[in-house]
Amino acid sequence: MGQPEPFLDDRKALACVHCGLCLGACPTYLETGNENESPRGRIYLMKALQSGRLSMNDSLVRHIDLCLGCRACETACPSGVEYGALLEATREQVGRRHRRSIYQSWLRRFAIGQVIPFPVRMRLALWPVSIGRRFGLMRFLPRFLRDIVELLPTEVDPVSVPEFLPAPEAERRGRVGFVSGCVMTVLFGATHRATLGLVNACGYDVVSPLTQVCCGALDAHSGNLDRAREFARKNIAAFEEANVDVILINAAGCGSTLKEYGHLLEADEAWAERARRFSAKVRDLTEWLVDSIERLGLAGCGADGPVTYHDACHLAHPQKITEAPRRLIRAVAGDHYRELAEADVCCGSAGSYNLTEPEMAGRLGTRKSRNILHSGARTVVTTNPGCILQIRAGLKQAGASEVRVLHIAEFLEEALQRSAKNSERGAGPA
Ligand code: SF4
Ligand code: SF4
Repeated sequence: MGQPEPFLDDRKALACVHCGLCLGACPTYLETGNENESPRGRIYLMKALQSGRLSMNDSLVRHIDLCLGCRACETACPSGVEYGALLEATREQVGRRHRRSIYQSWLRRFAIGQVIPFPVRMRLALWPVSIGRRFGLMRFLPRFLRDIVELLPTEVDPVSVPEFLPAPEAERRGRVGFVSGCVMTVLFGATHRATLGLVNACGYDVVSPLTQVCCGALDAHSGNLDRAREFARKNIAAFEEANVDVILINAAGCGSTLKEYGHLLEADEAWAERARRFSAKVRDLTEWLVDSIERLGLAGCGADGPVTYHDACHLAHPQKITEAPRRLIRAVAGDHYRELAEADVCCGSAGSYNLTEPEMAGRLGTRKSRNILHSGARTVVTTNPGCILQIRAGLKQAGASEVRVLHIAEFLEEALQRSAKNSERGAGPA
């Protein structure tokens, strides 16, 4: 065995003191009870790989692949271990040095790597799915493809976000940038329309540069760091031209990556400072909206039955945003709000994890559905497109398709519309 290439930042790797306090927060450890499927075990494996004590074998890669990258371990860790950075560096090594099965290579390099980040390609790829569904052809697909299709919404809902969307003249208070994303513009048009409506209603013009590209989250999380950096540079340049002080994002997974461009490009002298400036402007929609509860008139709008909230991992853990979405939902729903057991345990979506690791994703989806049904909620609110698709699929499998799963922007917009209708009828808030 030759001298292994050093890939971990020693300072980050040695920060782990192996105390095990993160184990109970790790979804894969909760499911398997296997130390190798825990943060502590995986950090041990990463260090052993770096030192050459272990080789890049199938079993080691399996334990790294099974990690969701949810970063719940970072929240639990008292030593401040930057697990996400260790994982990304290790996955980059796996990508370079490990040969995967033909199916896994096709899935990761082609279906995920060459389709999802590009909206036009994604729309073309979804076209045969719509036809197949309409004519009942899905049953002829092999099982693994049927499982993938099952996760997709029944209707594609594309949206073309304008480069500039002004707030009503009388209300105008400023302007913000908006990251439209890739999956969101193809499958979540209603979410984007609701988001833009809320931002305009707060008195802000929206600038969404046409030259922006995918945020690079899927690449960064799977260890394809070179392409994640390429996307990051394009987005930084696009938003520099937009000349805004705040850059909004309504997808938790993307937001976490955008806030970490500074880290992603820290070794690139020409871009490091520009990346840090970009990241400092990024705000999740909920952390930005929470100060506008009164202005929007959200308080007491009322909910359509019991509501609960699922923490998207990349909002709760890397971004540490848990209160803002709850305050927004509680303002609307009041006593109808139900706290969800294990709200911040990953639902199994985790970017493209439910495509690459369907078995563990399915177990976590079932766990999430059980908790939702136990809460008695009729609506589940969350902040990430992947979570929405995964939780809907899990509830459908549990025979509970009637429980709605909504992005928070749609939930808030719907509440405002209901309240407006009630006021028109003279009924007052629900
Ligand atoms: S990652 Fe943190 S919590 Fe987990 S074992 Fe290491 S030091 Fe302890
Ligand atoms: S990122 Fe999530 S799945 Fe991976 S080790 Fe940490 S807690 Fe466990």
